[in-house]
Amino acid sequence: MSSQAMISLVIPVYNEEENLRLLIERIHPVMQQMNRPYEIILVDDGSKDNSLSILKNLTVWPEVKVVALVRNYGQHAAIFAGFSIAKGEIIITLDADLQNPPEEIPGLVLKMEDGEYDVVGTIRTQRQDSIFRIMASKLINMVARKITKVGMSDWGCMLRAYRRPVVERMIACHEHSTFIPALAVYFGKHVTEIKVAHDERARGLSNYPLRKLINLQFDLVSSFSDLPLKALLYGGIVMASGGILFGISLAVARLVYGAHWAAQGIFTLFAILFVFVGLQFFAFGILGEYIGRIYREVRKRPEYVIDKVYGSDASE
Ligand code: UDP
Ligand code: MG
Repeated sequence: MSSQAMISLVIPVYNEEENLRLLIERIHPVMQQMNRPYEIILVDDGSKDNSLSILKNLTVWPEVKVVALVRNYGQHAAIFAGFSIAKGEIIITLDADLQNPPEEIPGLVLKMEDGEYDVVGTIRTQRQDSIFRIMASKLINMVARKITKVGMSDWGCMLRAYRRPVVERMIACHEHSTFIPALAVYFGKHVTEIKVAHDERARGLSNYPLRKLINLQFDLVSSFSDLPLKALLYGGIVMASGGILFGISLAVARLVYGAHWAAQGIFTLFAILFVFVGLQFFAFGILGEYIGRIYREVRKRPEYVIDKVYGSDASE
């Protein structure tokens, strides 16, 4: 591939008014240094602050394009909206809060072109997040490795490079509850990863409260495997057999020790009952998550709706 391949940066933006200018100021020198055609696609994911008007002002730079979505669809849907207008041969995603240093972009491109890779992932060294987030990520990465059967070590870092065909295959999927890094690995033949730095969020707060985080991780698991459903089945079998054995042993104990002994066991039984009822609700919850996702797919509502595109060759 020619060293002049165009690069598209796709950046989802949700309430990042304080970071946008700094972001562009840091990206430009890096891209200019690389000396090849590029575009910066910023997708406003229905921000409630001033992000969109700041973004519109940034379109004075000819490389900047802004996609305004109708409402907040979530980070991954926003990236898809960016993918849909990206023209580059190499498409790189990164976060708007400067946690992914733009200075790492040349390294990603170099790795991709040197090794003829389709997807270059990243591993965050010295991650600047809360202990809770880091521990949660460790668990998620482990699960993701199991279900995708790909040994990527860090799935959460969005600073990643994809070749155009991989992105086109992803767009063709039209999936709602999906997780881009995992989907890309599914469609890429040669996949690798490099180490990158990770910074603290420049300004503002994370847009991922626990609820959104759990939802996203469930998207990752549910869109690539029926593992939770299987776990339910096997868990159910184990629990049921355990219950039967327990019942038998209680009956035997009653025969051996008499009715007096059995009455004393009544609270234990209640406790066990609660555990089973709890597990049952948990099981229904998992089923519900899958059914909810199936329902969303069946409705065939668009994953995102673009309100307007601003920038050089756009309609405005
Ligand atoms: N983001 C988005 N839509 C959302 C939530 C987040 O486009 O509904 C963007 C956000 O602006 C940022 C990136 O996704 O560019 C990652 O979000 P954040 O930094 O809040 O997540 P964290 O780094 O805490 O995982
Ligand atoms: Mg962040």
